[in-house]
Amino acid sequence: MKIHLLGSAAAEGVPAIFCRCELCQKAKNLGGKDIRTRTSALVDDNLKIDFPPDTFMHVLREGDKISEFEHLIVTHTHHDHFYPEDIRMRTPGFARNYGDVLNIYGNEKVVERCRETLANELDCFNIAPLQAFTTYEIGGKLITPLKADHKPDEHSFIYFIEKDGKTCLYGHDTGVFPTETFNWLANRIVDIAILDCTNGLIDRKTIHMNIEAVKDTKAKLAEIGVIHENSKVVATHFSHNCGLLHKDLEKLLVPFGIDVAYDGMELTI
Ligand SMILES: [Zn+2]
Ligand SMILES: [Zn+2]
Ligand SMILES: [Zn+2]
Repeated sequence: MKIHLLGSAAAEGVPAIFCRCELCQKAKNLGGKDIRTRTSALVDDNLKIDFPPDTFMHVLREGDKISEFEHLIVTHTHHDHFYPEDIRMRTPGFARNYGDVLNIYGNEKVVERCRETLANELDCFNIAPLQAFTTYEIGGKLITPLKADHKPDEHSFIYFIEKDGKTCLYGHDTGVFPTETFNWLANRIVDIAILDCTNGLIDRKTIHMNIEAVKDTKAKLAEIGVIHENSKVVATHFSHNCGLLHKDLEKLLVPFGIDVAYDGMELTI
């Protein structure tokens, strides 16, 4: 399984559009891994996780292969993960020769918003609701939405993805996982865990995680036998508000066996 991280920022991106903070100014000067777009990932080229407003920019950067996915699974409806107005660009009048019906999966709010925004083009899409802790076969992979601690007015998901005996836990946006999610994971093995690190050194572990929560989550997953010595743990979804450059994040995370995501990072298991 190949996981291509297209973005690695929290909602504002880095540098944030209107921000003049010290971190945003440094990021502009440094460029490279310090420029972060809103998160999304492509799994094996045929399945995309989330559809941020930066999808247009991701296609400019990476080329057509980024827009050839057949399945889209959505974590929740925050705008940095879900921008259905641009999903509408995959319909006649806005695009040509783009292939078959696009399959879109998510919680009840994702389904509702897709049906509203795509109301005039519903025959171009197959829109299906998902339930937490139920496993679905999507795009040659087994996909299980798990409960997140994130958006109280909807069922936000993180995703457990399996293919050919290899597994990925796509673990953001969320605070420290709800007990039900840890319990479900307790019977599984995770080869790659991608975790929410929005808050950096800020003292907050709910809704989003901070560095301490990422380390604690890694320790807990090891303690309950979910991750093994060859499992990879990757932190992502960084906010400029935590004031940390890529190299600062590496100093704080790499010694604990946690890699720091950047835009374009590719993971293979
Ligand atoms: Zn987010
Ligand atoms: Zn800033
Ligand atoms: Zn969110």
